[in-house]
Amino acid sequence: MSDVDTRLLMAVERLGRALRSAQQSLATETGVSVLGLQIAGILDSHPGCRVGELAAALGVRQPTVSDALNALESKGMLQREPSAHDARVVRLRLTGRGEDLAHRCERIMQRRGGSADGSVVGAPGEDRNRHPTRQGIALEVLLEEILRLQQAGLIEVNRSCPSCSHFEHGSSGSNHRCELLGVELRAYELQVDCPDHDPASI
Ligand code: SF4
Repeated sequence: MSDVDTRLLMAVERLGRALRSAQQSLATETGVSVLGLQIAGILDSHPGCRVGELAAALGVRQPTVSDALNALESKGMLQREPSAHDARVVRLRLTGRGEDLAHRCERIMQRRGGSADGSVVGAPGEDRNRHPTRQGIALEVLLEEILRLQQAGLIEVNRSCPSCSHFEHGSSGSNHRCELLGVELRAYELQVDCPDHDPASI
């Protein structure tokens, strides 16, 4: 790993610490654990997840996720439903109360520069008023680092554009492209946690 790689990862770690601190304040304010807030954020954008999928996305063990799910359920924020295709499979969804929590967290975290589940960018086409080119370059570099960490086996779940089968990397100077949506993607429009992501072979 080069010196620049090391400093890049240190900068990301510093940002991560700032976001975790913001999440901790939210957890104290809402009475829901940080892990519970992260789960609410993921279930809000990916309803119907299974426990194993949540554990993989969060990089924690299933029993840890189960404890946080039980706490959300006891607060009336989560419901479990058998899958329509296989009654042995349990799907997880937020209740209206859980959605209210997720949306509240999302609004507060966006004001602080992130989102409840840790992503840092809006939807394609969203207007970016502050230095979109610089932000886009930073986002692109970070997503490339995440892809490298995934290829090295250090990250299990990655739903960002560069790891998606629908993603067409633009040649130098031209925009990228999402073949599924049929749109060009400027660097600052790259998605961090896309619901339409389809894993490419890496
Ligand atoms: S489907 Fe989503 S993750 Fe895949 S290229 Fe399109 S916007 Fe990116």
